[in-house]
Amino acid sequence: GLRCGIVGLPNVGKSTLFNAISNAKAESANYPFCTIEPNVGVITVPDDRLQILEELVHPERVLPTVIEFVDIAGLVKGASKGEGLGNKFLANIREVDAIIHVVRCFEDPNIVHVAGKVDPISDKEIIDTELQLKDLESIEKMMLKVQRSAKAGDAKAKKELATLEKYKAHLEQGFNARSLDATDEDKETVSDLNLLTAKPVVYAANVDEESVNTGNKFSQALEEHVKAENAQVVLISASIEAQIAELTDEEEKEMFLAEYNLKESGLSKLIKASYSLLNLITYFTAGVKEVRAWTIGKGWKAPQAAGVIHTDFEKGFIRAEVIKLKDYQEYKTEAKIKEAGKMAVEGKDYVVQDGDIMHFRFNV
Ligand code: GDP
Repeated sequence: GLRCGIVGLPNVGKSTLFNAISNAKAESANYPFCTIEPNVGVITVPDDRLQILEELVHPERVLPTVIEFVDIAGLVKGASKGEGLGNKFLANIREVDAIIHVVRCFEDPNIVHVAGKVDPISDKEIIDTELQLKDLESIEKMMLKVQRSAKAGDAKAKKELATLEKYKAHLEQGFNARSLDATDEDKETVSDLNLLTAKPVVYAANVDEESVNTGNKFSQALEEHVKAENAQVVLISASIEAQIAELTDEEEKEMFLAEYNLKESGLSKLIKASYSLLNLITYFTAGVKEVRAWTIGKGWKAPQAAGVIHTDFEKGFIRAEVIKLKDYQEYKTEAKIKEAGKMAVEGKDYVVQDGDIMHFRFNV
């Protein structure tokens, strides 16, 4: 599944958000594959289409997909040089698919700000700098390795060196690797480095409760500032999230959200932003035993999509039967769908679409 790391300076609301996530946690009994570590929260991805399928199919159980959130504490100024928890947390960041960068956009005289005043842009830059310094370390280490072969005339090494120089210059100017105008070949060269600032990022602007719909001057400044990056800004109120997480009843939750004029929780907004940033889509399998959602990348073909269920499905792939949700809703049962000619039989080149209901045929 998808793994998101939560980063940010101290006192910006990370723990509040993370605790809300942990409270909203998936029924872990259904997800035995998710290791339960204290700094990892696993939540299910809300998806209205699952409920539609549940009402049509009446399965024994419904399994949404999950996202893991990793609380990456200890990022302070100087962290890349070993301040605070130093390098310990950086290993955690390398493993995530996306970063959720919480930025303080609320004023509260009672909550100390580490830099003395609320300034989202400077806060963001402190974190960025630490990550950039770490990336520079990785780049320079690789340069040392490649230099010798480049000097000896190795063409591939020369090319790699040029790429590394490009990244180095970009990072040294205080930019994140993700904003470099890099070719696919450049990206391939550095892919093993797992550059921290190349990972997709969602900025979570933690605003006061009153500004959760409109934003405020802080979140607006942040939005303006990150325009050039391929990133998204999501407005959240960590304190609202904490209150939502206390509510167990769905109806109560809806009423609470309505009080704040919210259509959905901040958590749900964060999940959607991560999905769109990472180009992820969902397909479903629907049977009487189980209705289940699966996360794949946009553009994946049927065998690769089948592979997330089981590697055997990919290896032995024969064909896929595909139903569109709207046809399921119209014809109600698989038999009627087939009768109406609305079940497509697709081969290995079929590109799976968001919302497809898939049935895979395979050889074992
Ligand atoms: P962390 O250090 O980033 O994990 O920050 P915490 O989540 O521990 O939050 C630091 C303090 O700020 C706590 O006392 C929170 O209750 C408070 N806090 C978090 N979010 C908000 C918010 O949106 N508004 C206000 N006023 N306080 C908040």
